[in-house]
Amino acid sequence: GRIMSDALDATARKGPSAGHTAPGGARLGSRPLIAAIVLLAAGLAISLGAAVGWHAAVRAHERQSFEAVAASVSATLATELRRDTEFMETLRALVAMRPHIGATEFDQWYGLLHGGQRQVGNLATAVVSIVPAARLRAFEAARAADPAFRRLAGGDTAIVPAGRRSRYCLVAAGATRLGAAQLVQEAMHIEWCSSALPGLAGYLRAEADTGRIGVTPRRLGTVFVGAAVYRRGAPQSTVAQRRAAVIGWVWSTFDIPSVIGSAIGSRHALSVTLSNVGPGGTTHLLGRAGGSGDDGSPFAVRRVLHVDGRWVVAIRGSGLPAGLSALAQGLLVLAFGVVVCALLFALALVLIRSRQRALALVQERTGELRHHALHDALTGLPNRELARDRAERMLARSARSGVPVAALFVDLDGFKHVNDTFGHAAGDELLRLVAQRLQGAIREVDTAARLGGDEFLVLMEGVELPDAPQWTAERLLAVLRRPYRIGEGRASNVTLSASIGIATALSGGAEELLRNADIALYQAKAAGRSRHVVFEPSMQSAIRERMTLQMDLGEALARGQLHVVFQPIFSLRSGEPEAVEALLRWRHPERGLLMPGEFIEIAEQTGLIVPIGRFVLEEACRRAAGWRRRGHRIGVAVNLSARQLAREAFVDELACSLHDHGLAPGALTLEVTETAIMRDAAASARRLRAIKRIGVRIAVDDFGTGYSSLAYLRQFPVDDLKIDRSFVSELPSSKEAGALVHTLMQLGRVLGLRTIAEGVENPAQLDVLREEGCDCAQGFLLSAPLEPDALESLLKAGPAPAIAADRAPASPAQ
Ligand code: C2E
Ligand code: CA
Ligand code: CA
Repeated sequence: GRIMSDALDATARKGPSAGHTAPGGARLGSRPLIAAIVLLAAGLAISLGAAVGWHAAVRAHERQSFEAVAASVSATLATELRRDTEFMETLRALVAMRPHIGATEFDQWYGLLHGGQRQVGNLATAVVSIVPAARLRAFEAARAADPAFRRLAGGDTAIVPAGRRSRYCLVAAGATRLGAAQLVQEAMHIEWCSSALPGLAGYLRAEADTGRIGVTPRRLGTVFVGAAVYRRGAPQSTVAQRRAAVIGWVWSTFDIPSVIGSAIGSRHALSVTLSNVGPGGTTHLLGRAGGSGDDGSPFAVRRVLHVDGRWVVAIRGSGLPAGLSALAQGLLVLAFGVVVCALLFALALVLIRSRQRALALVQERTGELRHHALHDALTGLPNRELARDRAERMLARSARSGVPVAALFVDLDGFKHVNDTFGHAAGDELLRLVAQRLQGAIREVDTAARLGGDEFLVLMEGVELPDAPQWTAERLLAVLRRPYRIGEGRASNVTLSASIGIATALSGGAEELLRNADIALYQAKAAGRSRHVVFEPSMQSAIRERMTLQMDLGEALARGQLHVVFQPIFSLRSGEPEAVEALLRWRHPERGLLMPGEFIEIAEQTGLIVPIGRFVLEEACRRAAGWRRRGHRIGVAVNLSARQLAREAFVDELACSLHDHGLAPGALTLEVTETAIMRDAAASARRLRAIKRIGVRIAVDDFGTGYSSLAYLRQFPVDDLKIDRSFVSELPSSKEAGALVHTLMQLGRVLGLRTIAEGVENPAQLDVLREEGCDCAQGFLLSAPLEPDALESLLKAGPAPAIAADRAPASPAQ
């Protein structure tokens, strides 16, 4: 986790394409959002407009219908009032024609006039006659005798208030609605002109004076409508004439709410008031009916009813049956619009959000891919490509700042061995641990990368002190040397070292910096691994040389530049050459004769050693077979590289070569180094046993420099031990070398192996070896490697003089 997050790629954040996607993504996100908000605002505005429009339309419609309703109500009211007025006029005319009309007769007329159409709201109607005192008795007698009047007056006919006057205004006849009977009964007894009833008397007088129908509000909602009746034929032009002509009155009381109510009908939302404008212009509220008029409707109308010009109707309320008001409807439209807009907006948001999420996902995946492309999957460290990019950036900065950049090329020593021994899973684990340790040992600003295999790179920026990279390299070497616990259950404890090549640069290309570090690493490995080496320009020429040599070597075999020389191996007992070691030589067209030390490693690394080795083996077999045919009992030893040993086909090829040249397998020895065997111990053991089965001998070359373990020696079918010349060269001066040679000789004896000492250069060494009981010796003291012809001469010459001379006094008999 830490490595991954630390290794989060800077270029992914700063890179050119990343620079497009990051802000671009934000823009892509906000643009639809703004559009959605604009649409929302537009939608809300439209909703508001629609609501206002709807409200206005409903209002207009309401006003229209109100006005229609008001007109209808007014017309109905006018009709009713006219009918009432006409009724009063008719009554007046009737009474004028029949001044002495009695109750019974009136009933008949009343019924006739009314027919089916009763006056709406009419409570009572009466005829009042002016009776002079002289005629009072007769009038009262007639009234009392009239059953209709008795019914009307409830039997009693006493005059209220009592008292004598010159004339009386008394009810002669009447009609009443059920329920109004009590009221009317009282009225029947009243002497209407009595000063005890100033109000009513006044009204009657006024009506008599004006001649018009008088309307007088009484208790709430009740009006008293009266008209004077004049003597027929009498002049009525002036008030005086009218006063003289009056003979009585007709009156009716009306319940105004009933009148209005019948005009309103079912339109209860209307509030209607009816007023009467008196002769002096004063307005009296007569009554009210319908709703309260408080339903918020703004409509109101006042109309003057053209009945007599004296009626005013005021109508308020809505013209529609109770329902939603225009405001409510407008608000409803608005609410609906808002809800629809909100839903659309929410939908847009969801779409935008999902689009943004998709974009974010794409970005994330792009980032992941970028990370994958630029990071090592196993360790999470930046890979070679990213490392080169970082180095490039660092160099660009250092060119400005003047502070150098350092590259540390880290290569694990013997990692392949770990892989072979513990398996690839353990190898991977080890690489991860190495990555962690590297990451942990460097500064935050530095970069640790994995270049592939067991190669790592550390980039250091801002190297102020010239020695800082070396210190870091030391630290890294120390950190990497600590034991690793790997394998199943972390059971295995592994230690390995590393080699580090260091290069610093102030400017230039990353490629060059890394190549220099690589060259230094190569030198570190060449110098014996587990160390760091700082790049020097001279190394570069060496490397360049190596490169050209590598190319030349590829063609050397085909061009016949390679040949084999033979160095004899002498028996220390007889002094006779027992065998020869085939050693490769390269006659380079420009460089002259090259030794294997100058090109064998290149051949190993490039794989050229396989065809070259086959060539040497062929040559050795051919020559040895020739010498043996010519009577020399000589064996031949051929150096075998690990690469050759690793090949499955090698054993068959070997058998073919022996057979082709007619060489006895026992005359051939293959020299294999310890390290070559140990590279894949199990496979080596199998291959060596197969070689052994053919009958070919096996020698362990450079013995003592590698693992040198008794256990492994016993595993392999080895015949000869070749004591490395580094030990021999220290004889006889070095005690340790002497002790070691002693041990090796003992070992050879115990295991029944033939011991051969390499690199014998002086007689003193030869003495020690002989004392130690070494079987054979090889070295410049005895013979340098020779061309085939020269060797054949040597074979003919017999025992080596150095051994023979030395041996002669010791055992003259032989
Ligand atoms: P090596 O197998 O240890 O071969 C012996 C080397 O010691 C030879 O060097 C030989 O010339 C050298 N030598 C012999 N006597 C003395 C002496 O008294 N003093 C010193 N200092 N050196 C002595 P050469 O021929 O240069 O070969 C070097 C190495 O190259 C060989 O070491 C062997 O490992 C490798 N090599 C040579 N030929 C072949 C080959 O055909 N195939 C393979 N795979 N490796 C070869
Ligand atoms: Ca050898
Ligand atoms: Ca050797």
